[in-house]
Amino acid sequence: GILENKVAIVTGAGSGIGLAIAETYAKEGAKVIVSDINEEHGKEAVEKIKSAGGEASFVKADTSKAEEVEALVKSTVELYGRLDIACNNAGIGGEQELTGDYSLDSWRKVLSVNLDGVFYGCKYELEQMDKNGGGVIVNIASIHGTVAAPLSSAYTSAKHAVVGLTKNIGAEYGQKNIRCNAVGPAYIETPLLESASGDMKEALIAKHPMGRLGKPQEVAELVLFLSSDKSSFMTGGYYLVDGGYTAI
Ligand code: NAD
Repeated sequence: GILENKVAIVTGAGSGIGLAIAETYAKEGAKVIVSDINEEHGKEAVEKIKSAGGEASFVKADTSKAEEVEALVKSTVELYGRLDIACNNAGIGGEQELTGDYSLDSWRKVLSVNLDGVFYGCKYELEQMDKNGGGVIVNIASIHGTVAAPLSSAYTSAKHAVVGLTKNIGAEYGQKNIRCNAVGPAYIETPLLESASGDMKEALIAKHPMGRLGKPQEVAELVLFLSSDKSSFMTGGYYLVDGGYTAI
């Protein structure tokens, strides 16, 4: 595999896009730390990876808590000796309201997971990667890192900020052998979208020129490329995997 002997963290790896990324990393030879706030789903993901012949361990962490993310990186080094790759994927949708009606609680909650959580991840991952001589970070943003998601101001704001954070890291760590890029998926078939009604789903599909939603594996393939040496001259970038959503 192209990630043979690499040590990788994936946050929010118990479900959806994160699960596909963790499975893909493991299939390519990485030792994967599956992290999630949901212990049951995280442990199931580890079992799935192991029964497919991969190496993985579960470490619970709520990414919105700095001390838990710091402990996650520490546990990774205790378990596998170093940290080469990190995918900061954990995220939530939040309430759907006009900006003028958006509750302060939901704003805080979405920003704390979707932005603070990614910053905490990057901060402690960078510290460790710098110690072990290099590494790669992939942050999961969204198409809403560049276009609006009406009724989801907090989500749009957090995802735009993740793109900015990623650019800053690219600018700062270019000569430290650490690369950092962000990915912008359009709507992907995951449990995050399960609450959407049939009509809502049809309306979402209509916004994608390809006439369908994406699959978690289609995001994982881009993340794999960005996490591997095949993308060795790419840093500070933001790459879409959106079925043409932002082209129209
Ligand atoms: P999902 O709900 O299927 O999975 C998210 C996982 O993150 C869950 O296992 C959940 O337990 C975990 N999680 C939630 N809060 C957490 C926290 N505070 N700490 C640790 N783990 C936490 O969602 P998904 O669709 O796979 O989304 C993954 C990422 O992709 C998110 O950042 C999301 O914003 C982004 N994204 C999703 C879509 C989509 O259409 N599904 C599109 C673009 C971007």
